[in-house]
Amino acid sequence: MIEIRNLHKSFDHLHILKGIDLEVQGGETVVIIGPSGSGKTTLLRCLNLLEMPTSGTVELGTRTLEFSPDKSVPKSEVLALRRETGMVFQSYNLFPHKTALENLMEGQITVLGRSKAEAREKAQHLLEKVGLADRADMYPHQLSGGQQQRVGIARAMAMDPKVLLFDEPTSALDPELVGEVLKVMKELAQEGMTMVVVTHEMKFAEDVADKVVFIDGGVVVEQGPPAEIFGAAKHERTKQFLNKLN
Ligand code: ADP
Repeated sequence: MIEIRNLHKSFDHLHILKGIDLEVQGGETVVIIGPSGSGKTTLLRCLNLLEMPTSGTVELGTRTLEFSPDKSVPKSEVLALRRETGMVFQSYNLFPHKTALENLMEGQITVLGRSKAEAREKAQHLLEKVGLADRADMYPHQLSGGQQQRVGIARAMAMDPKVLLFDEPTSALDPELVGEVLKVMKELAQEGMTMVVVTHEMKFAEDVADKVVFIDGGVVVEQGPPAEIFGAAKHERTKQFLNKLN
């Protein structure tokens, strides 16, 4: 579903991603872990082109985009790839002046050209799925952080993405609200949604991930099934990182 090859990203002279290779199969949940500042968020943003990679290849489904410093990728290709990914942000990023239902309808109408009726039906179905059918007409400020994030996930799903990208989706939440968001994510994973998740929730990674990828200093240090990474990491940097968490 996704293949990233030799991906580099620099901000001016700061070289942040230093040749990332990563594969995500359809239906897999891949969890990216690593120290703060190691480039996890940047990698995720390069995947849906909120940041333009400096060089390397991003393949998603049937689409292959090649990046290099001296030629830019056509805007139409960028938009097409972006449409195939849904992003869930740490800070929810809901439209504050729209209800939960309207938040889910907006992109469907303006980007996908769906009719209002069709968008509403899909929105209602997804709100039900994340357990918020009874909050459809509430505004973000009337919802708890956990509820807002569940709306954020449903909103990303409303666009029928091939893959969902989660950027630390629970790190802005009070601890008692984390569980309800992880539960929704776990259900999606079990239904076969392809997901790439940056998180510090190691229990979630252990329970849900098909593959855990440890990134440090802009490179993939180690990757493998959770049992291998958490139980028998090969690299000293991975062990040190995991030890610090315990
Ligand atoms: P992580 O998600 O692993 O904490 P990030 O990808 O957020 O790491 O950041 C990696 C590095 O890239 C940090 O040093 C950060 O300051 C830098 N960085 C991220 N975005 C930008 C930007 N837009 N401009 C300059 N530097 C950035």
